[in-house]
Amino acid sequence: MRESNYYETMLLHYGEDKKDYEGAVVPPIYQNSLFTFEDWDSIDKAFDDPVNNCIYTRGKNPTVSIVEEKLSKLAGGEKAKLFTSGMAAISSAIMHFVKPNGHIITLKNIYGPANNFMGSYLKEKMNIEITYISGKDINEFRENIKENTCLIYLESPSSVVFSLQDINEISKLAKEHNIKTIIDNTWATPIYQKPLKMGIDLEVHSCSKYIGGHSDIVAGVVIGSKKDIKDIFEKEHALYGGKIAPFEAWLIMRSLRTLPIRLAKHQENALQVAKFLESHPKVKKVYYPGIKSFEQYELGKKQMDGYTGLMAIDLDCKDLDKIKGFVNRLEYFYIGVSWGGFESLVYAPAISYLKEMTPDKFDAMGISLGSIRLSIGLENYNDLICDLEKALSIL
Ligand SMILES: *Cc1c(COP(=O)(O)O)cnc(C)c1O
Repeated sequence: MRESNYYETMLLHYGEDKKDYEGAVVPPIYQNSLFTFEDWDSIDKAFDDPVNNCIYTRGKNPTVSIVEEKLSKLAGGEKAKLFTSGMAAISSAIMHFVKPNGHIITLKNIYGPANNFMGSYLKEKMNIEITYISGKDINEFRENIKENTCLIYLESPSSVVFSLQDINEISKLAKEHNIKTIIDNTWATPIYQKPLKMGIDLEVHSCSKYIGGHSDIVAGVVIGSKKDIKDIFEKEHALYGGKIAPFEAWLIMRSLRTLPIRLAKHQENALQVAKFLESHPKVKKVYYPGIKSFEQYELGKKQMDGYTGLMAIDLDCKDLDKIKGFVNRLEYFYIGVSWGGFESLVYAPAISYLKEMTPDKFDAMGISLGSIRLSIGLENYNDLICDLEKALSIL
């Protein structure tokens, strides 16, 4: 098989060999729990290298391996391991690096469940200390490093307010201090951002977003060096057992074939929608790294090769009934959590925040009643803009 470095070509063919499955144009789903052997010596030999031999589907499975090869090649890593969800990938990657009584530096606006894992669960179980920073200035990282700092955990852009971290600078600093680094790269995907090439140790993704792209799977992946992934395979993956189902891996293989063209369309649509929203009098602010008015636009341009379709806006309105009316009025934007699928979605962080606190409390965290998250799907952008324009007219 010829090896192309163009994503479109590579994602179609890399890691697949038609000879191995009767020429089937789509590799089969190996839906089996175990693999059988001719004789004593062959199973004995397989156990010499259980990571690379098919023995039992909690270990290597051929369908899963094809997808892992594509993802690690795409990210510029050496190896990848798929997991049953993004959170399984994230908690396994963190457990791989964290030490009892250790210290983690992370961001104030980190993805909620990842924060709960580090800041509550690990804090209690392993006496982990955690420091939250904005992540916008390298000096914040430098000033908060302690003797027991074992991990810097990043998410750039973060999925709430889309703030960025300077990945090159942070990985350089971490290496000087022997601190491990993990980044949640779900927003940018391995196509638009290459953290491993910038020196980050492990890259994690929720494959439930753009990598899956069809809103029909929940899955995750960790990508990194041969050594780290082998260790994670043998420890966190094997022992917690968060293995992906072969069918779900197969669906990701299907999704990866169209990832580059889907992203190009998400990007085009999102840029058009962001520009429309930016110029609308009822929209106070647009949080989207692809527009020039975005606070960290220059850093984004330096370290990303493109932008995907998730953004947030602040409506110029404090009346909860009107804000509800705006959300309910939208026709093409379905109301729901998650993002990165073919369909456009709308969600208001206030829905969950209001259950726990008053608006003035979450205002202080940079989220207001009028904060609205939009996942821009693959519809024609004219329809999306029209839909938003109608809904905004009721404010
Ligand atoms: C959804 C999401 C996750 C978690 O992924 P799951 O597949 O839902 O477990 C992690 N990080 C980010 C940024 C996400 O949006």
